[in-house]
Amino acid sequence: MTDEPDTTIYYDDDADEERLANTTVAVLGYGSQGHAHAQNLADSGVDVVVGLREDSSSRDAAEADGLRVATPKEAASEASIVSVLVPDTVQPAVYDDVEPELEPGDTLQFAHGFNIHYGQIEPPEDVDVTMVAPKSPGHLVRRNYEADEGTPGLLAVYRDASGEAKAEALAYAKAIGCTRAGVVETTFREETETDLFGEQAVLCGGITELIKAGYETLVDAGYSPEMAYFECLNEMKLIVDLMYEGGLGEMWDSVSDTAEYGGLTRGEVVVDDHARENMERVLEAVQNGDFAREWILENQAGRPGYRQRRQAEKSHDIEEVGEKLRDLFAWAEASESSEEKAEVPADD
Ligand code: NAD
Ligand code: MG
Repeated sequence: MTDEPDTTIYYDDDADEERLANTTVAVLGYGSQGHAHAQNLADSGVDVVVGLREDSSSRDAAEADGLRVATPKEAASEASIVSVLVPDTVQPAVYDDVEPELEPGDTLQFAHGFNIHYGQIEPPEDVDVTMVAPKSPGHLVRRNYEADEGTPGLLAVYRDASGEAKAEALAYAKAIGCTRAGVVETTFREETETDLFGEQAVLCGGITELIKAGYETLVDAGYSPEMAYFECLNEMKLIVDLMYEGGLGEMWDSVSDTAEYGGLTRGEVVVDDHARENMERVLEAVQNGDFAREWILENQAGRPGYRQRRQAEKSHDIEEVGEKLRDLFAWAEASESSEEKAEVPADD
């Protein structure tokens, strides 16, 4: 097992796609990642067979894209690389079906480490286990490839039974266009834990709670919901775009001095030591497997808690106000010229 974090970045020159010349790759699933990997591999000259259930609604799409389709079991039996791109929650069941088809020297290839890292899939010792995870939704992986551009990605080797696992994963990364942009080497553990922590504490969970808390604070103090929506949600995109482009510095340089001073002194009042301790607890539950166990049980129970929380989020006031305002906005944008209207927060 390889479990040493490493910051090496690989590009096209580091990968030899000839390695896949006489290889059949089974792509299980034809969703976001599946359709992109399958088509990019095929356009790179690799023999691809898409594995889908007999009754899968994706069969027509895969065939219309000119790909061969079989059941996951049949696809795995003829392939030496099996790329597991069905949703993470259904991977263990699909894996049970294909496991008897894995031969010594075959490769199980993933785009996320959850099921391997948390022991939901335990491949035979003589099978390579690798990850090539584009850091982008599948439609961009496909679109970039067609535009002769790349999609950055991650690469990891969990088990190198053949001695060739990394070279083969690099060839796969090249064939789907990732080494054009650069592939960062990581481990299944690091990819899984940072991915879960990021989406829980910062990207999905953290940001939505921050937005709702700000919105509720203003509305509870008597300000209008419309103003609260604009200040706490709508302008988020302008700020994030600046950070994406040039880091925190570009954002601070672009806002007014008042916004900069206020942000630099008050941000840490909100995200204080208490919030940081809570982040550590969230990370701990990712690391010790508590979150994974909870999510696996939630799925086994038919997702009652998930459905209830989804519903509560949908019925929050900010969603209603936002829908109304976005409609008005879309109407205004359509009726005005394409004049540049992006603004950063004003002083007041
Ligand atoms: P998805 O939900 O878009 O697609 C899943 C596909 O799997 C479906 O279209 C269907 O063809 C098939 N499928 C669904 N249920 C099935 C079942 N019971 N049996 C057999 N086939 C079934 O999935 P995705 O988002 O492409 O995720 C695939 C993998 O890629 C996951 O491991 C995910 O974590 C990873 N990943 C996703 C993204 C992303 O942006 N979507 C990015 C990086 C990695
Ligand atoms: Mg096989």
